[in-house]
Amino acid sequence: MTVRDVLQIGHPTLMTPAEPVDPARITGPEVQGWITDLIDTMRDRNGAGIAANQIGIPYRLFVAEVTSNPRYPYKPPIPLTVVINPVITFLSDQTFTNNEGCLSVPNLRGDVERHLEIRLTGYDRHGTPFEREIRGYSAATFQHEADHLDGVLFPHRVGDPRTFCSWEVFAQFRQADFAQRVRTLVGEWGC
Ligand code: ZN
Repeated sequence: MTVRDVLQIGHPTLMTPAEPVDPARITGPEVQGWITDLIDTMRDRNGAGIAANQIGIPYRLFVAEVTSNPRYPYKPPIPLTVVINPVITFLSDQTFTNNEGCLSVPNLRGDVERHLEIRLTGYDRHGTPFEREIRGYSAATFQHEADHLDGVLFPHRVGDPRTFCSWEVFAQFRQADFAQRVRTLVGEWGC
C-alpha cells in the first residue's frame, strides 16, 4: 500500500494537461502500480475520486469510488471505477449546481455547474475499452476527475465566486440545504 502526497493547486503538474497512456502498457507493472497508488491514496484521504496528476503522475487516468464517505456523506455510492484515457461527452444540456471540494484545494468549496447525463469512454484497469452512460448526481464526480487531466480544477469552473466557502462554513450553514437538493436529485435519477 502506498499513500502518496497529493499536490496542491498551483503545482505545475496539476495545471498542465496530462499525457495519454499507451493502451499496450496498461497491464504492465508501471501503470498497475499507479492504479494501486491512486486507490490507496483516494481511500486514505476519503476522496470520492483522484486523478493521476494529483499524485504527480502526468498521465490520463483517474479512479473514483464512493462508499459511505465521511467527507461527502450525501453522495450516492459509486463502485470502484478505474478510467484510463477518459473521454466524456454530454448527452443533454441538463445541468445541476454542484458544491465541490478537492483534495488538491485545501479547505475550499464552491458551486460548479455539472452535466447530469454523460457518456464516459476509456479503458479499464485490464486494458479493456468500455463505454458507460452515467446519469444523475454521480456524473459530476466523473466530470471533476476528468477535468483534472486537462489541468482544470473546480475553482476554475466556479461561476459565482461568492459561493466559495470553507468546509467548516459549508457544514455550518450550507450542507443541510445542499444535501436535501442532492437527495431530491438522487430520488429523481436513482444515482
Ligand atoms: Zn479534485
